[in-house]
Amino acid sequence: MPNPLTSMPVVGMVGGGQLARMTHQASIALGVHFRVLCDIPDDSAAQVAADSVVGDFRNFDDLEAFARGCDVVTFDHEHVPLRHVEKLVEAGVRVYPGPQALPYVQDKIRMRERLGSLGFPVPAWAIVENVSAVEEFAASYGWPVVIKAASGGYDGKGVWVVRSKADAERLLGAPSGITFFAEQHVPFRRELAALVARTPSGASRAFPVVETVQDDGICVEVVAPAPALSAELARRAQELALGIAEKLDVVGLLAVEIFEADAETPLVVNELAMRPHNSGHWTIDGCRTSQFGQHIRAVLDWPLGDTSLVAPATVMANLLGGTGPRAADLGSRVPLALSDPDVRLHLYGKGVRPGRKIGHVNISGDGVTDLRARARRAVDILRGDAQ
Ligand code: ADP
Repeated sequence: MPNPLTSMPVVGMVGGGQLARMTHQASIALGVHFRVLCDIPDDSAAQVAADSVVGDFRNFDDLEAFARGCDVVTFDHEHVPLRHVEKLVEAGVRVYPGPQALPYVQDKIRMRERLGSLGFPVPAWAIVENVSAVEEFAASYGWPVVIKAASGGYDGKGVWVVRSKADAERLLGAPSGITFFAEQHVPFRRELAALVARTPSGASRAFPVVETVQDDGICVEVVAPAPALSAELARRAQELALGIAEKLDVVGLLAVEIFEADAETPLVVNELAMRPHNSGHWTIDGCRTSQFGQHIRAVLDWPLGDTSLVAPATVMANLLGGTGPRAADLGSRVPLALSDPDVRLHLYGKGVRPGRKIGHVNISGDGVTDLRARARRAVDILRGDAQ
């Protein structure tokens, strides 16, 4: 039910990470009451959202208590047990994305089965229970083979590039309880992401398609719009994402990670996320409507905002915790990073740990080469790797 003081709707987000923190930021301007279910009071979003509730998203009673009084419940991650989501919906809670859509981001095998049956392009894949199944797969598709865990992976964890039978033995030789599948190693030119938002009424809107750059499975940089992507391919990537959102009945944001591959099948779907996504952080400064504001509009069934660019190009660089001796002393380096007046800094209020996503930098302008260099320089300063 709406907040009695303001008459504005209450949006509850399960999970108190940086995505919730930035969604909260967008909710402020819209006047929306934002509530967050966090693990601990120090969580990134809990530090800033006045209505933060500490609880366990794996516990149905905690979820139900959190949802009470929310007009809509949505997520900052996809780990809430599906059965709990179903029970919330049965109890009359509006949950977006709903239990019909969520399985496809909770289980990579279900996602591939479903997308494949709908005719969307996914790499060749097969469940592999043992080493000989990997060898059989390699006999058809060649080495290397990409092995993935069906669930629980993120930022490249749960993804292994296996180059030989010996590699496969190391991974699958001993029982682990993990369901693995093999996937064809796609010789992609680069990685793209298409982000769209969809409302419960079925309205949808796409953001400009971006190029994502990963290092060791972690997104380190996003360039928007994707440089030198033909208008035709950009349109096809947007239509792909809009089509998936519609067919899977996604409400809120959907990010589709795409491999740009050969001319025969130029766009291959790698991964889906049904929430704000790292590939959309650039929109805070580079788009008329940010992905976070768009997600709020979408789950409330409000009109979606304009997604056009505010500058010819925007580069987003992730700030991952550094490893050097100066890494922990982030605060003292912020002024130097801001000495470039175009740098837009977004810090998440997280302690510095090596490789941990603790913030990002956006910079908008004309020349992508220059923007990339300046974003990288700001991040190097913040990591303690540059003076
Ligand atoms: P996560 O869900 O952990 O982010 P992804 O499935 O997105 O894992 O894989 C992480 C990265 O591994 C991708 O961004 C890509 O660079 C690489 N990768 C994943 N699948 C393949 C594949 N089939 N072929 C080639 N590279 C892949």
